[in-house]
Amino acid sequence: MNRKPYILAESTWKVVKDINYKAALLPWGATEAHNYHLPYATDNYESSYVASESARIAWEKGAKTIVLPCIPYGVNTGQMDVKLCMNMNPSTQYAILKDVADVLLRHNIRKLVIINSHGGNNFKNMIRELSVDHPSLFVCSIDWWRIGNAEKYFDEPGDHAGELETSVMMHIQPQLLLPLNEAGPGREKKFKIKGLKDGWVTSQRQWTKVTQDTGVGNPIKSNSKKGESFLTMTTQEIAEFLIQLTKTAIEDLYDA
Ligand SMILES: [Zn+2]
Repeated sequence: MNRKPYILAESTWKVVKDINYKAALLPWGATEAHNYHLPYATDNYESSYVASESARIAWEKGAKTIVLPCIPYGVNTGQMDVKLCMNMNPSTQYAILKDVADVLLRHNIRKLVIINSHGGNNFKNMIRELSVDHPSLFVCSIDWWRIGNAEKYFDEPGDHAGELETSVMMHIQPQLLLPLNEAGPGREKKFKIKGLKDGWVTSQRQWTKVTQDTGVGNPIKSNSKKGESFLTMTTQEIAEFLIQLTKTAIEDLYDA
């Protein structure tokens, strides 16, 4: 029996063909090293979990959304020298996004929500370009870890494989983690030049120059309870967004 008609990978055509889905969710991750203690697919587990859980909450309140299978490769151009970090260039990502958009439009789904897990992925300009290629599709993206104030949930959230990400993985995939005493400290080396250090000059960081253990942020104070409460907040926020988005016509997105 299909209890999750909002997850395409687990659904049959028999069920899917008769549902009038109003929006699609596309989890997007990366396959990359996460300090010594988290698995390479961390971002994929996270975005798939956040998308599925948000869609479940929204579905139970009547919002018809469908979660597509996760795209497991992210932009990792700054990590080409880290073993088997699987880079996918932004231009390739755009080609994928355009094909996904084409399928959705053929089945009358005019809203696409990307659930992004990876800091190196940036969809803003792709959304702009897509609006020229597919003007009838509304596309948006959510960096789920930026929702709310992480400082309220974690002593030191961290950036990559730190306390936030480790706590979240302890909640959703605990069997894949190594014990915390095997993790590195996730110490981050900053740029030397002031503008770059202050952040108003943007460039790519070469990851192996930034951190020794591939992590940025100390995971030592992580626990699954912190991960669970942060995820509860983020998935509720996203579910509420989905409910509003599915109810609102694309032509009616702005204040009167
Ligand atoms: Zn990650």
